[in-house]
Formats: sequence, C-alpha cells, structure tokens
Amino acid sequence: MLSRHQDPIAAIATAPGRGAVGIVRVSAPQDLTPLVTAICGRALKPREATYLPFRSAQGEAIDHGLALLFPAPHSYTGEHVLELQAHGGPVVLQLLLARCLEADPALRMRLAEPGEFTRRAFLNGKLDLAQAEAVADLIDASTEAAARSAGRALAGALSGEVGGLRDGLIQLRMLVEATLDFPEEEIDFLEQADALGKLRRLLQRVEALLDRSRQGAILREGIKVVLAGQPNVGKSSLLNALAGAELAIVTPIPGTTRDKLSQTIQIEGVPLHISDTAGLRDTEDEVERIGVARSWDAIADADVVLFLHDLTRVGHADYEREDADIRGRLAQVDPARILQIYNKADAHAPHGLPEGALTLSAKTGEGLDALRRRLLEQVGWHAVPEGLFIARERHVQALRRTQEHIGLALAQAETEPPALDLMAEELRLAHDALGEITGAFTADDLLGEIFSRFCIGK
Ligand code: GDP
Ligand code: ZN
Repeated sequence: MLSRHQDPIAAIATAPGRGAVGIVRVSAPQDLTPLVTAICGRALKPREATYLPFRSAQGEAIDHGLALLFPAPHSYTGEHVLELQAHGGPVVLQLLLARCLEADPALRMRLAEPGEFTRRAFLNGKLDLAQAEAVADLIDASTEAAARSAGRALAGALSGEVGGLRDGLIQLRMLVEATLDFPEEEIDFLEQADALGKLRRLLQRVEALLDRSRQGAILREGIKVVLAGQPNVGKSSLLNALAGAELAIVTPIPGTTRDKLSQTIQIEGVPLHISDTAGLRDTEDEVERIGVARSWDAIADADVVLFLHDLTRVGHADYEREDADIRGRLAQVDPARILQIYNKADAHAPHGLPEGALTLSAKTGEGLDALRRRLLEQVGWHAVPEGLFIARERHVQALRRTQEHIGLALAQAETEPPALDLMAEELRLAHDALGEITGAFTADDLLGEIFSRFCIGK
C-alpha cells in the first residue's frame, strides 16, 4: 500500500496575490509523461525551460508560460517534479492548479499540504531536518543577518557540526561497547585509547555548539520588547529613535498578527519586536480595555519591559502618583525583565535615580547605544566569531540533552572502577539526542509539527 507521502501532489508555489510570475509545482514518484503530454502537448527535455501554451482539458490555452521538468532523483523533492511558470494572477494559477490535479486521472493527484515538498526532500535524503527548517527560516527571516544565517544553516553549517560530533560519539560508543565485551582488560583499554580525554573534548565541542545555537536561536526569534509608561514620557519618540538608525530591511515577525502599535526593528541584525502599550490604566471604556488586556499579554510574553520615565516631571506629585500606579501593575512581572529608563536627559539633569536605571534622550540620541547594548545583554546575545547559523529552540534543547548525557557519561567514566555499562547507556542517549537535530531519530508527529508550519507550495 502506498503511504500518503507517495501521493502525487500539486500546489501553487508562489505567494498569494498578483505578481509578474506565478508557479504551480507538481511532485510525484510516478511517471509524469502522460500529465506533461496532456498539459504541454509535447514531451519536455529534462531541466530545460520550454515556452509553450498550457492546455485545458478542451485543448484551449489557459496561459502561455515556461514548463520545466526535473526527473527523479535530480529535483528539489527527489521525485519527478514539474514546474509551470505562468502569469501570476490568482485565477490563472487556480485554473492551472486544477488542470494539474485532473490532467492524468490515473495519478490521483492531490493538493499538497504546507511544507510537503520540503518534507519529501527530507524523506528522500535531499536535506536533513535542520536544513529543511532553515528553508522555512530563510523565508521567514526578518533581518538580513537572520536571512544570511538561515542560508548558512541551509548550506549545512549546523548539520556539519552535528555530524562531526556524531562521528566522535560513535567512535567512543564503539570503544566503550568493545571494552564491555572484554571486562578483564577494561581499564587498560580505555586508558590506551584516551577515552577520558576524548570524552572531555567532545563535551567541550558540544558546549561550543550549544552556545552558537543559542545565538542562532536569538537571531531567529529576536528580542521582544514592550514600552511602558505614562503618556508623553517619550515612548513613541524612543521607538522612532531606535528605528531611525537602522538601514537594513526589516519585516514584522512572520505568522503573528500585530496591531499598528508594534513594529520590528533591529540591533546588530537581531530583530527587535517592539510594542507600545496602550497605557495600563483602569478604564471604563470597552475599546481601551481591550487595548489594556493586549498590553498585558505583550508584557507577559516580553523579554524586556522598558519602563519609561520623564525626567522633566520626576518629583511632581501627579506624575509620581501615575508612575506608582504603573509600577504597582508591573509588580507581577519578574524585576529582571524590567528596565527603568529615564528619558529627556537633554532637558533635565538626572539625580537620585534608582540603581541600574538608564538615562537617555530620545531627542538627541544620547544614551541610546547603552540601551541597545543592554537589550542585547538581556537575551544573552554576543557576537560569534565563527559565523552564525540560524537555530531553533528545538536544536538548543537537543544539544542541552546531548551535553547532559555526555556529562553523565564522563561522571561514570571517572568512578573507580569506571561504570562501563552506565557510560555506554549515557553515550547512547547522547547519540539519540544529537540525532534529533538532523532528523535521524525524529518521531513522525514532530515531523508533522515542523512541516505544518511551512507555507503551502514549499
Ligand atoms: P509618548 O506619549 O510616551 O509616546 O511620548 P511621545 O514620544 O509622543 O513624546 C511626548 C513629548 O515629549 C513630545 O513632545 C516629544 O517631542 C517630547 N520628547 C520625547 N522625547 C524627548 C527627549 O528626549 N527630550 C525632550 N526634550 N523631549 C522629548
Ligand atoms: Zn506615544
């Protein structure tokens, strides 16, 4: 019986809406000759673009465009792939897609699910899991640095490092397991092979990769910042000042719907997702109440809350009362995530401020660099000399477990006499954890979860 992963599939591969060009993509393990003949009216040379009319079932031209056939296994998915490049109108593309679905009834072609083309590329060994994820991350990248790092992950930077660690682990496992078979010589054998030294070096390499992956995950996720504070303290001005310095392209976080009060800017290529709170006061107004509730959601989810104060009004009774009110409301937020910011330093000299407070001027830009550094610090960002690759929290977690099990293996190796069977078990667990990154040992439901977040046609 064929699994659904062997169904012929088709989808519009380009973004919805109008464009100069739109692409319908087909992938199938089965021969596509009858389908190609029906739609293109002729055979296609492999990997060569041919300009021709795409025919409807009645033989009329739906559109004229380029047809490209990539016979298996030399295609994105590793299956036979047909790409039809037509004019990028939604109706044309829907007609062409419908035509692909029925042109060869024997195929029983169906619509592709999100990410299904890439999932097949993974299943057919064209990409490993970390690379497949990098495809989505490249598409979703919100800064240039994130896009470049996704490109590096796609090219195999993370996978290559993981492969090197896996080879080291396999070597050690073989050594330990061979020794288990000859218990009378065990200690000598391990010593000769410098098993302890190898294990320690492996642990160092895992730790280094874990650090780089953490940075890669920050680059992917960015820093979530909330601006809090009374009206007129300078929240909008600060947002503009931070945004004003940037030159590169930024886009909002993909997949999240955000109101107009939030935007994404960047610091050193790290996306900074900033939302301005709609005030945090008690209110009778229904619309305002929704705004306040949304502010609280943003605050609960934030890496940093910037609590802004106005130096020109500090000390005034009305002002202090309002500030105390907001402070009270922020009391349920972890203090480590709240940064006290004193704005308008150009207009009023700061004095007697609480410890750790930052003074700045959104107007002159004074103090902004210190704020940027502080924000990066807050999420543990530091520049990585080896070049970054994008990573996900999933990779970080898997590396953490790898680190933990290698650490436990090391502890077993250091006992007197070494507990070889426990050591072998820990190394096996470390190997499994590492394999999750590239998909060597990945449960089907996790795969489903990962690929379902892709766009359709990818
Ligand atoms: P928000 O209501 O908190 O968003 O505050 P705004 O950004 O709209 O700023 C309120 C007022 O304070 C405006 O008139 C700004 O020009 C002024 N303002 C903001 N930042 C500064 C600053 O650093 N120095 C001075 N002198 N004025 C500022
Ligand atoms: Zn404002």
